[in-house]
Amino acid sequence: MNKEELRKIFNQKKQKTDPKTLKIIDGFMNATFNEFQNWFKMEKFIKGCHYCGTSNEKSFELYQLQRTGLRPDATRGGKRGKRLELDRKDPFKSYDDLDNVVWCCYWCNNAKSNFFTAEEFMLVAKAIGEAIKKII
Ligand SMILES: [Zn+2]
Repeated sequence: MNKEELRKIFNQKKQKTDPKTLKIIDGFMNATFNEFQNWFKMEKFIKGCHYCGTSNEKSFELYQLQRTGLRPDATRGGKRGKRLELDRKDPFKSYDDLDNVVWCCYWCNNAKSNFFTAEEFMLVAKAIGEAIKKII
């Protein structure tokens, strides 16, 4: 991933307010792009989803299957699943706590929600990873 793509991800993940609902959308508040870049070097994007191991490339293949009509489309209009996403292992900590942030596939991010702890979710993620391997 090049610097511009990383900057785009960082900017998209900044905390903001939804203009329609006025609800705060969690994101980076004080973390700087440099800190995020350093985190990126440590947190192995190449290893794939922290929970199920699905690679960014496989995530994109799943996205394409849905967008081309070969699978039911659960991408929320193409907005989700195109690449690995950022997840907070503990969703009640800030995104600024980068030790708490991991790469995560859309399927795990969606299923984990705020309900399962990262440890509890590993059981679910194992099944998600196996199911994804059957698809692609
Ligand atoms: Zn996953």
